[in-house]
Amino acid sequence: MESGSKDASWLIMIDLDDTLFPNGHLYVEAAIQSALRITRALGPKTPYPNVLFSFQHDLDVVMVKEYGYSVARYAESWTRTYRHFAVSAGIKPDENVELAIVSAATGFTRGPFVLFDGVIEALTALRQDGHELRLVTVGEDRLQNEKIVTTGLGSHFDGVHITQMQKRTQMQALAGSRRERVMMVGDSFRSDIAPAVELGYTAVYVPGDTWTHSLSVRVPEGTYHRIESVRELPELVRHLERIGAINGKIPQ
Ligand SMILES: [Mg+2]
Repeated sequence: MESGSKDASWLIMIDLDDTLFPNGHLYVEAAIQSALRITRALGPKTPYPNVLFSFQHDLDVVMVKEYGYSVARYAESWTRTYRHFAVSAGIKPDENVELAIVSAATGFTRGPFVLFDGVIEALTALRQDGHELRLVTVGEDRLQNEKIVTTGLGSHFDGVHITQMQKRTQMQALAGSRRERVMMVGDSFRSDIAPAVELGYTAVYVPGDTWTHSLSVRVPEGTYHRIESVRELPELVRHLERIGAINGKIPQ
């Protein structure tokens, strides 16, 4: 459909993790379990939790550039954290401890993956209203596909698009030259909202992720919509259509 068409169908791109189901807390659990393995290995030489978690967090964020949003990155940043504090304490890193850390740090891949209440109903309503739904997510194919199969989301979308590094390119590929009735819905200012606003799409923020790396990108208020749950999305799209707000600009 070309821009300016009378057709009231929107292209709605929706993020997966922490938008359609809670996921961030699985990383918190993995972090605590990994830190526990380090504590048991280093005993009285263990650094204080704030030092330990800050070191791993800073390293992990730096490693995003090299590893992208991969499972291996998180396990590797925890293993390197262990090695760093072991060596600083004059303790030789132990391979068995490293294996236990890898297992703990990858705990987020084992779920459980359970949709937020009302997600399927909202997606069904959007499709009944005639919109095109695209699932756009960053991460590894295998893990993201497993989440999609487990939650049964696949059949509720016109397409599933998994990318390893960033979503901006994927969003542009889906929208092409179209600027009207293009929407990106997600919980990450960094991955979802900032690129959508820059590209001139209608951006809809759903609070979810608490990862400081996602929140560290600032997007000016008044450039995006905010809803508390995807449940509110069908009504928001109907409202925007009613008032003719189809070009990404936020009515003041
Ligand atoms: Mg997300």
